[in-house]
Amino acid sequence: MINKGILIVVSGFAGSGKGTLMKALLSQYDNYALSVSATTRSPREGEREGRDYFFVSTEEFERMIENDDLLEYAKYVSNYYGTPKKYVFDKLAEGKDVILEIETQGALKVKEKYPDTLLMFVMPPSVREIYNRLKKRGTETEEVIMQRMKRADEEAAFIDQYDYLVINDVVEDCVRRMHEAITAAHYSADRNMEKIEEVKKQFKEFLKEER
Ligand code: 5GP
Repeated sequence: MINKGILIVVSGFAGSGKGTLMKALLSQYDNYALSVSATTRSPREGEREGRDYFFVSTEEFERMIENDDLLEYAKYVSNYYGTPKKYVFDKLAEGKDVILEIETQGALKVKEKYPDTLLMFVMPPSVREIYNRLKKRGTETEEVIMQRMKRADEEAAFIDQYDYLVINDVVEDCVRRMHEAITAAHYSADRNMEKIEEVKKQFKEFLKEER
């Protein structure tokens, strides 16, 4: 009955552990498809083209904007990041729940364009923990880490516009809670207007026949 895929945005501070959560969610359930973004940032060690990101030049990125290939895009700590449209629409049409792991500006743009989007925000247990995780990852300089901390502080202003908070304490618990919230979202009335209209139509027809 309810088989349409929904669009899900997952945001979270750098170092909130959302990447780990997404991996676990995708490996445990088969109804999800994770969108791969395009970015002008350089690959980190271990990141792979087409799996983690499509790494492109600024010129290529600007061409994608011009061609209207992106669902949304934003600048984040001096780099462009954007969501290619095609994959998202193809997977939604297949009935998959499509996850965009993007920052707050992009998230709110998506919600404005597609009000059915489910917005989830991942929070680490504390701010100190964010700093510690970034430091431990060891992929950025202290200067970039501090820029990301500043950006995280700015992003905190938008959290109240999200639908759900995901406190990333224990990964397995967190993944289960996310999956439950998404499952519940499938059954919300406003995401099932077609079904509601269909029932109304059936009532009309039924009552006409019985007259
Ligand atoms: P990172 O450089 O750590 O991989 O990502 C930096 C930030 O950009 C993260 O908050 C990440 O969620 C966000 N991001 C990744 N892809 C996109 C995208 O396509 N659009 C937007 N708006 N943000 C993105």
